[in-house]
Parts: sequence; C-alpha cells; structure tokens
Amino acid sequence: MVYPLYPDTFWSFKHALKFVSKKASFPPLGLLTVASLLPKEWNKKLIDKNVNEVTDKDIIWADYVFISAMSIQSESADRIVSRCNKLNTKIVAGGPLFTSNPEKYDNVDYLVLNEAEITLPQFLSDLEKGIPKHKYTSDEFVDVEVTPLPSWELLSLKNYTSMNLQYSRGCPFDCDFCDITVLYGRKPRTKSKAQVLAELDALYFAGWRGPVFFVDDNFIGNKGKLKREILPAIAGWMVKRKKPFYLNTEASINLADDEPLMDLMVKAGFEAVFIGIESPNEESLVECNKTQNRNRDLISSIKKIQHFGLEVQGGFIVGFDNDPPAIFKKLTSFIQESGIVTAMVGILNAPRGTKLHKRMQDEGRMLKDFTGSNTDFSINFIPKMKWDELLSGYKNILNTIYSPKHYYERVMLFLKDYKPVKKSFYFNFGYMVALFKSMVKLGMIGEERIYYWKLFFWSLFRKPQLFSLAILFSIYGYHFRKISHSY
Ligand code: SF4
Repeated sequence: MVYPLYPDTFWSFKHALKFVSKKASFPPLGLLTVASLLPKEWNKKLIDKNVNEVTDKDIIWADYVFISAMSIQSESADRIVSRCNKLNTKIVAGGPLFTSNPEKYDNVDYLVLNEAEITLPQFLSDLEKGIPKHKYTSDEFVDVEVTPLPSWELLSLKNYTSMNLQYSRGCPFDCDFCDITVLYGRKPRTKSKAQVLAELDALYFAGWRGPVFFVDDNFIGNKGKLKREILPAIAGWMVKRKKPFYLNTEASINLADDEPLMDLMVKAGFEAVFIGIESPNEESLVECNKTQNRNRDLISSIKKIQHFGLEVQGGFIVGFDNDPPAIFKKLTSFIQESGIVTAMVGILNAPRGTKLHKRMQDEGRMLKDFTGSNTDFSINFIPKMKWDELLSGYKNILNTIYSPKHYYERVMLFLKDYKPVKKSFYFNFGYMVALFKSMVKLGMIGEERIYYWKLFFWSLFRKPQLFSLAILFSIYGYHFRKISHSY
C-alpha cells in the first residue's frame, strides 16, 4: 500500500514539522481502512512516501501495489505507477484522484473507484475467480456503519503530528466549487457511537496521545445525532481515558448558530475547527451558492465560535466572477479583524464533476484539470478578472497576512480573547525541543524575532495557560512565510 507524496503547500506543514521532529502531519487513513477490507491472510506493508521512500525491492516484493491519492498527489502518483509498470507489478488504484479522472489511467491495472466498501469486494471476488476487470465503479453511497476499523498496526505512529478519524461522509450544503458532494453525496452518512468509541480506543491502545483530527468535510452535517449520542459519548470517553487527545475538525459556519452544539463539542475535547469562510463579498457567496455564509455578520459568527473555546481556522477564496477589484484589501482586513491565525487563502478552481466546472465548460472558459492545490498560482479556467490583477492581488494578500507584523497581530488578537476550557500547558520532551528550536530559529535568526519575543513574554506572563499555543502559532507562522516566499 503506497501513499504518494504531497508537494510543499500551506497544508503540508513541512517547515513546521522540523520543529517537532516529525515527518508528516496526517497518516493515510483511506489506505489504512482499505487494508482492513483486504483478506486477512494477505501480507500487507504500508509505505507513506511522505515518511519513507519506496524501493524497487518493495515493489518487486509485492504482488499488488495499492495506491490511494488525492488530486494534489498526482505527480507523485504518476511516478509510482510508472515504476510499478516498469517492474511489472500490478497496480490497484482508488481514491479521489483516480475516481475523478479514470480515463487518464490506462496504465493502472485495476481501478477500484468510488467507495471501497462497495467496489473493493467486487474486485476481490473477481480476482479470486481469475476474471478481474480494469475498472470498478458504483453510483451508490455506502452505509459507513459497515466501514471497518483502520489497520493502525501497519503504521509507525511516531512519524506523525496527528492521527485521524472519520465519523461521517457527505455534506448537506451545495457550494458550486466543491467536489465533496460529488464524491460523497449531500446526505451525511454517519458512523455509530460504538464505532467512534472503538476508533478512539484503537488509537489509544496503539499508544497514541495528542491531536486527533476528525477528517469529516462537515462534522456538523447531522447535528441531531451529534448532540444526542456522539458528543456526549466522546466526552464520557475522554474523562474515562483521562483526556489523552485534543480534537479538531472541519465544519460549516452555521455552527455559530447552535450554542448547545458548540458547548458539547468543547466538552468533548474539540479545540479547533476549520471553516470555509470563502469571501467577505456577499455577491461572491451568492455566486458560489454558499447559502450558509450569506446574510450574516461573518466576523460576529467567527468571534462567537472563538468565545466558546474553539479556535477557528479559515479557508478563503479569491477569483470569483463577482469579486470587485477591492476584494484583496477587503479580504486582508477581514482576516486581520477576525483573529483567524491559520488563514488559508486560495485561488478559485473548478474540480471535475462540480457545478462550477460545468458552468465554466458551458461558457467555454475551461482550461485544464485542477491541480488539487488551492494555494499555488494555478487556475483551471479563464477568470473574469484580468489574470495579472488576480495574481498580484493574491500575492499581496499572502505577503501581508503572513508578514510577521500582521501574523503576530492576529495571534495576539486571538489569544487575548481566547478562553479554552482546557488549560493546555504542554511540557513533554518533544515540546521542550520544539520550544528550544523556535527560540533559536525564530527568536535569533528569523525576520520575526522582535514579534516572537514580544509574544513569548506576553503569553508567558499574561496568559501562561496559552504559552504553548503561542509557540505553536509562531512555528506555523514560520511555515506559512516559507511557503509564501517560495512562490
Ligand atoms: S460546506 Fe464545505 S464540504 Fe459542504 S459543500 Fe460547501 S465547501 Fe463542500
């Protein structure tokens, strides 16, 4: 089982990983789950290329190389496929990259697409009969209550900063640029309480302590079940196991409208939530059908979630047809005012299968396939705004929001108001090493050194319970700056 390499992006956190002596942020949860769907008697080996190299010996050892990838991993996936072709090892591929572009992969022996719980058993049955087909697809969405526990025993947990867990698939909203609803549908499908607790237990007994990311694209897609069953059960589990994990996830902005839900999330141990804010420009939100973000004061919604004890990380997009020339300044001010420290800004792209892709095709504006990176400088359709204007405006946003002055201003603004339920002040060996490295790299030689020490002493004396978070933000800031300077 081979997981292709991620390029260096805002999401890779590569430059931050060096501080904590880790090799990757998240493990390949999809492949670990696929491993559990394979026959028990097969010998399995997992190689995550973000952690270790794949050797020719590994490929020759295998009867089949299973690859799962997202669009952003396409270059690395292509290289693995070519190597397997050369070494005559059969390839079985699945996941969003192959599901969205199957016609590009004639050189893959077996395409097992869509949801593996449905298509993989069909492939395995045909394989056993000696009649495997080139491609397996399905229009159906699986009931995720049949999804097995990931095969954590295949992974060396110590290489990662966070573990992950999937509670649900699908999202009830219908943003026109989003392929989540294309791949997983609009009806959220959820795991049972017993499954979630078993997954937490599996990570706990595998020895994991630290962050756990619920990878759901919209964790609050089915609020009723969360409030009734899942969050109280997680909260109980956390107390029983003495709070070994810090949880984070992704959700939609309507989380701000549900105080009991935010309260329960915080009680269950959630500390941060990534939200697609997209744009402060109402017409752009109308254009992309981001209904849940419309007709509301977005800054107030963000502040409300922060006040409940959840750090808000934000996704933002420029390049909508309705973006005015002033959007770049407007978005920069919005981000500064929101106190969102981790602000991921990308240029709009149209992934295959989305409503936006269809509109661009109908209007004769499609150029190429989406690279999968929303933070590089590519756009796969002809924008309404002049390309030079869009590019320089985008660069201006990045250079401003990640500049030490603006970045540390946001950190201070956020920490001043932030009242986490858990008073986290981590003092393990790994943390002390990261702290020491940050003092040298950011405090002595970094362009941010004045801001770093200001935050260091301010948080140490005024907000000691948030000191470790302040250092973590400083390290993230270093990564964001490195990436934005490399463009
Ligand atoms: S809320 Fe998020 S996951 Fe749901 S459709 Fe919109 S962008 Fe996609």
